[in-house]
Amino acid sequence: MTAHEPPGTELLAAVARGVIDLTGIRPSAFRLPYPASLQLALDRVVLESITRRTTVPRSVPELLTWCRERAPMEWLFLPRDFLTPGARLIHPTADEPTRTCAELASLGRHGALEQEAQSLLSKLADTCGSPARFAQCRDFLIRRPVVLRFDPMELLQPSLANTWRLVKDLYGPVPDHYPADGLVHCCSGCGLLAKTDTAGGRWCEGGCLSEDLKLDASHQPGKALVLPLALRLFLSLPGRTELEVRARLGDRSAPLLAVLGIHRIPGRNGEPLDYQVQDREQPIPAAQRAAEAASGLDGQLNVVVPDDRTRSPVYRQAFELALPPGARVRLRSVSEFTASEPTDGTRRGHA
Ligand SMILES: [Zn+2]
Repeated sequence: MTAHEPPGTELLAAVARGVIDLTGIRPSAFRLPYPASLQLALDRVVLESITRRTTVPRSVPELLTWCRERAPMEWLFLPRDFLTPGARLIHPTADEPTRTCAELASLGRHGALEQEAQSLLSKLADTCGSPARFAQCRDFLIRRPVVLRFDPMELLQPSLANTWRLVKDLYGPVPDHYPADGLVHCCSGCGLLAKTDTAGGRWCEGGCLSEDLKLDASHQPGKALVLPLALRLFLSLPGRTELEVRARLGDRSAPLLAVLGIHRIPGRNGEPLDYQVQDREQPIPAAQRAAEAASGLDGQLNVVVPDDRTRSPVYRQAFELALPPGARVRLRSVSEFTASEPTDGTRRGHA
């Protein structure tokens, strides 16, 4: 953690990684042994609670209940507004890690999930051998986070066969805890995995509003294939918005650091403009990760987010306040960025 980050951030990130690790191994949520990362996170929360003379979680199941029912700011030493209202690490009815949890698991020097996505893409880029081939494969992964009905005839047709050969090893079976009553579902909005029968109604990994949610189903869960959670949330989910941005910008947009999803367009004043599309629930962790991405660039990084994120000023304000001093990052909505590329390369914030 940097000096700019609140002191409880590292412990919160450790708990989030423990929750993610538990999901990765569980056929059943409470099967023992728990992953070492989760047990270690519990020990650290206990120590912190004793030091601060607050309620101590007595077991991993109790800590998981806290993750499901209580905001982390209630049981860790964090600023009250560190996460958005109602944020939880485990979705209370879907019983899955939230996007907030995944974003937090990627924070700090031990950050793991977004980094796993980058590592997988980096290996894919090496295997592809050419930027054009990697770009094709990356776009395929964006469009197909879930292959609901694996059809060899479709994927081995000449236009797709080469891409499929390069990406197929990234796909695996649907996690055991997703199929229900012999059905596996994916969301037609975000393309990610979904559930129909939670106590709160329909739910999908991308957080699409449940009343608008349309689901596709397959009666053959054994034939469905999915990307790892890291790629679903940190490539495919923002990738849908990235495809829209690139379509609007046309040929002016070209990959700069393709594994990180950083693209470049020529700006009006002749200076190149670098941008990365993000889709994250939590503005403060998003700002911290954006500052890290921008540190490897010569100029400013435009972080482009879906228009919904900036409809209320709260997200933008929290993001900008969380940027470390001197970070060359500017937050833009899709409409702002594609309608009128910014020309002032120093001021950050206002659209
Ligand atoms: Zn969705």
